[in-house]
Amino acid sequence: MTDRVVALLGDGLVGPDAPLLRIDDLGVLRGDGVFETVLVVDGVAVEFEAHLARLARSAAMLELPAPDPASWRVCAQTVVDAWDGGREMTLRLVLTRGPESGGPPTGYAMGAPLSPTLLAQRRQGVAVVTLTRGTVPDLAAQAPWLLLGAKTLSYATNMAALRHAERLGAQDVVFTASDGTVLEGPTSTVVVARGGTLCTPPEELGILPGTTQAALFRGAEAAGWPTRVQRLTVPDLLAADGVWLCSSVRLVTPVHTLDGRSLPDTGLTPRLLDLLPLPAVIGR
Ligand code: PLP
Repeated sequence: MTDRVVALLGDGLVGPDAPLLRIDDLGVLRGDGVFETVLVVDGVAVEFEAHLARLARSAAMLELPAPDPASWRVCAQTVVDAWDGGREMTLRLVLTRGPESGGPPTGYAMGAPLSPTLLAQRRQGVAVVTLTRGTVPDLAAQAPWLLLGAKTLSYATNMAALRHAERLGAQDVVFTASDGTVLEGPTSTVVVARGGTLCTPPEELGILPGTTQAALFRGAEAAGWPTRVQRLTVPDLLAADGVWLCSSVRLVTPVHTLDGRSLPDTGLTPRLLDLLPLPAVIGR
């Protein structure tokens, strides 16, 4: 079974062990680059165009050259076609500023199996702790150089937050602003059900616009389920009819415990999964 499949942008398939990155690549030296994580199911890259659009958005925020959509489609399809590792695959698109000594940006697509942990969490749900990001809610507009809301390769603090959550006996995190406003997870969007409406925090808070949340809300609206983008607080989460962490690979993972307090299971998760553009068996 294939473990990793890699294609270089503009160059085609390469062996999974082939040396690809120069040691002075700014993606490595500075975390200076952007990426996307896409779920592939049965050879279909879910919401691929939304991921490409977000890659372009992140690249623009970092003032990287605009990614050429046609080349990225070919690169991603090369990986998808070469995959024989099961129905689902995680497809990463990575674009860095390239070598420090000069040269073009580095771009590649990599396919890999899904994390067994995330697969289990889709079904079992997660215990979450809220952790502060320490930022004021309107910082993104005031300080664009902080790249809040860009999907950059500098995810070390997000990973550190997850390790901190584990030390506290939880599996995931909801970041809050300095005033307690709910932001997002380290690798997920927060969605809640309140009084028959699906709600998520606004992008203006400097959070990543989620492709899964967008697809979910599109599906909800088509099914006559109202949606709202609004600021939320931790008490709002505690009082909600359901809280989920949404992302391409984890789909809609229910939060069963928040800061040590049990949240009710109102049985909505299968209904939310049905709203996503996926084969019915995925995520169950
Ligand atoms: N927010 C952050 C910070 C993320 O890293 C991610 C995905 O990894 C998301 C939200 C969810 O985005 P998507 O649904 O497009 O996977």
